[in-house]
Amino acid sequence: MNKDKKNKENSARQKGIPKSAETRKRMSLAWTGVPKSAETKAKISATLTGRSLSAEHKMKIHDALVGKPHSKERKEKQKRNQKIVMNRLEVRAKTSAAQKIAQNRPEVKEKNRIAHTGSRSYNWIEDRSLLPYSGEFNLELKERIRKNYDYTCMVCKLKEEQLTRKLSVHHIDYDKKNNIPSNLISLCGKCHPVTNTHRKYWTAVFQCKIYRRKF
Ligand SMILES: [Zn+2]
Repeated sequence: MNKDKKNKENSARQKGIPKSAETRKRMSLAWTGVPKSAETKAKISATLTGRSLSAEHKMKIHDALVGKPHSKERKEKQKRNQKIVMNRLEVRAKTSAAQKIAQNRPEVKEKNRIAHTGSRSYNWIEDRSLLPYSGEFNLELKERIRKNYDYTCMVCKLKEEQLTRKLSVHHIDYDKKNNIPSNLISLCGKCHPVTNTHRKYWTAVFQCKIYRRKF
């Protein structure tokens, strides 16, 4: 009788017989570090799949791991798993809803307002005396803006030559007196009226678009 067969028979006979904590500990130590065959690994995985751990068991694992540095491999695995979880649609919807609630809290709103005021604003210009007067929202300035955006509607991307009318020049912050170039953007006659509703949304969209542009 070969050793492997004997082992199997022993294990079958002992199945179901409860073992003392001491014996289990000894067995565990004896098997620690012994490489498992693919077949064994598959068996273990099949047994464990779908099984949920008790709170007590989870706590035990947690206690055993606390303070231990994570291996590079484990960190990468965690990162991958997190990415998969974060990308699940229901998780994304949940995160987005939670973010919306958080952003609407008055103290957060106030913080954001302060963070984007004055020199921290997207529209901040060091020397305002170099800018055109507010009365200078004229043909020349509008033409400059259209040219700056390559005579393109920044929403639908249609070019002026494809349209029957010249492009409109839109004030990103809806302040008609704020005529600095970084507050102006070219829009077609169809898209411009659309920006009259959901103003906060459109301001954010256009500010993102102009953020890295040079004027
Ligand atoms: Zn358009």
